[in-house]
Order: sequence, then C-alpha cells, then structure tokens
Amino acid sequence: MEIAQGIHSIPAEIDRFLGFYAPQVYLVVGGEGALIDSGYGDEGSISSRVDYVNAFAGLRLAYIVITHAHPDHISGAVRLREKTGAKIVLHSAEQTDIAVDKVVAEGDIISLNGIDLEVVHTPGHNPGHICLYMRKERIMFSGDQVLGQGTTAIPPPKGDMAQYIDSLRKLLGYDIDLILPGHGPPLREPQRRVKELIQHRLEREEQVIAGLRQGKATVKELAAEIYPELAGFLYEVAKGQVYAHLIKLEREGKASSQGSGKDARYKPALERGRCA
Ligand SMILES: [Zn+2]
Repeated sequence: MEIAQGIHSIPAEIDRFLGFYAPQVYLVVGGEGALIDSGYGDEGSISSRVDYVNAFAGLRLAYIVITHAHPDHISGAVRLREKTGAKIVLHSAEQTDIAVDKVVAEGDIISLNGIDLEVVHTPGHNPGHICLYMRKERIMFSGDQVLGQGTTAIPPPKGDMAQYIDSLRKLLGYDIDLILPGHGPPLREPQRRVKELIQHRLEREEQVIAGLRQGKATVKELAAEIYPELAGFLYEVAKGQVYAHLIKLEREGKASSQGSGKDARYKPALERGRCA
C-alpha cells in the first residue's frame, strides 16, 4: 500500500506479536530502494516482502535500515538480505549477533538516488535507536520512538527514560508533516503527538514521585498504585516503566534507593522547605 509518494507500507503478520500492532515494514522507492525495518523472519513474512519489492520492475533494493535491534524489527533482516542483496544498516550503539554491512551515526545520509534518508539518533527505547528523516518531504520514520498509538516500553537496563524524553524533545526540532511509526498508523499531527508524549511521561514521573511520598517503596507497589487496571504481561511492562522512571529520578537526585534488583526500596529525596 502506497502511503505517501514513493513510500509503501508492507503488511506484516499480526499474530506473531504480543497483541499489539504488528511491526511496520516500509519500502522507500527512489532510484534505488530501501526497507525501513525488516519485521519478523518467518517464511510468510519474508516472501510477501520480497514479492512486494520485486513487483517494482528493475528496482534494486540497496538497504535494509533497522531502527533498532529488537526482534520485531530486525529478525527478518538476514533472510531479506540473502534474497535481495541489500545491505543491513544499523546504528553503532546497537548490539546484535548478525553481521551489519553499514554502521551509521547521527547525521549520516543514506542516499537512494533521489531520496535521502537522514539518520536521527534517538536513544531511550534502545541505546542505538534511530529515526530516519526525509528532509525535503518532511517525513520522519520513527521506529519505536513514537508509535501510531499508545506509548513505547522503556525497559531498563537498555531502556533509558531520561534519554527517551530528550529524544522526544529532539524530534520537536525537526520540521515534520508525517510520522511513520514502527507500529500502528501514520501520524499526521506529529508535533502535537510528540508534545503529548513528553507530557504523558512527565505526568507519570509525577505519579511516581507522589507514590514515593505516600510511602510506596518498591517497583511493585508503585506500579500497582499507578496502573491498578493492568494485569499479566501489561503489568510486567508497567513495572519496567516505573523502574525506568525511578532510575531517572535517582540519577537526578530526586529519589534514593536501598538494596538492588526486585527488592530495592526507594524513597523520595527531601526537598528544601519540605518537612520529612
Ligand atoms: Zn522495540
């Protein structure tokens, strides 16, 4: 499906993913082609993507650009490379077992003869997460930095909440008409959405601080207080989010902890003018 001039979304299987939106794989068609992310590596997904690319007679797929090395984004990369000869592109701060052909950093341009993809380093969800910016077209491929719906998991230790919020603020500095996320539908009011996401994280942080002040001391207690409606897998994700906020708060001197791992106990830092 063509979603903007020269940009196609290639449907992925939803049932392999944990109940959320399936990973999006995009094909960008300039003089040469590039895939943004690879999706999963199962036979069905791979052949549907290769067929989609092959439908463009004479198009050489030059790159498979991976926004970050999580399985739903990278696991199809090696098989897609075998079938197309494209180079796998990844940021230098991402860790993976697979052989990467081209390592990129902030500001690098991936040229497709007529279309340029600019690397925007957005750490937080993962240390080497990148977004890809088409400056002329004012389109941003956002990977998991900004999702089409809902909020991104920031699971420590690789996930870093402070960096994540900084990366959201960084996106506000780009002129963007359209965000194409790693999961979910396109976002046509990108600035508004990014501002909402920053606001949402700061509100969660306030909730964590409020919970600490009420004497909730562990990740578990805080998550149960802040996310009373969640259970099962989503509750596990929520605990990760709370933990990510606590790491940020501790680093900023707004909380302190005793013990480590699951049993660590936190308390809020004493503020000037506040009685303990
Ligand atoms: Zn991810």
